[in-house]
Amino acid sequence: MSNKFKLPYAHATNIYDIDPNFFKKEGIKVLLCDLDNTLDSYKALLPRKEAQDLKDQLDELGIKLVIISNNRPKRVEPYAKALGVTYIPKAGKPFKKKISRFLKENCYNLDEVMLIGDQLLTDIKCASRLKIKSILLEKLVEEDQWTTRINRLFDRPLRRRLRRKNALVDWRKRYEHS
Ligand SMILES: [Mg+2]
Repeated sequence: MSNKFKLPYAHATNIYDIDPNFFKKEGIKVLLCDLDNTLDSYKALLPRKEAQDLKDQLDELGIKLVIISNNRPKRVEPYAKALGVTYIPKAGKPFKKKISRFLKENCYNLDEVMLIGDQLLTDIKCASRLKIKSILLEKLVEEDQWTTRINRLFDRPLRRRLRRKNALVDWRKRYEHS
């Protein structure tokens, strides 16, 4: 499968490192955002202040933040409700079905949607299947759920290879040239 969405569009150390104006400049209206180790630790029951600040900044820019998580409603719902955002639990990443349905129901243009997350094999793969731009992040915190720890065994060498091939483009570089 060869398509231009196969690789992450950009890379960042973490989501809070990115200037929200970057998304605006990219013409993004909907930011599909992973939860665990992207916005917060999987252990964080409520959003950290940075998450709330980011959500408020995106609101001001007219960008809708939507949490898309493979985790259970029990974990995702209280967090998303406290943050005041739409959420899709058990999103089934890397499969696109559930998220695709959501995008269609809301009549979003795919070129106005971006997906951001910390895992190549779930988040980035899903974006590639949806044919939307994605941003790959490093882990926000050290701790991972056990399922994610298994995924990391496959993610790590893949990421190393992308880095060696200079296939990870820093978001600032995209920002300068967009
Ligand atoms: Mg994650």
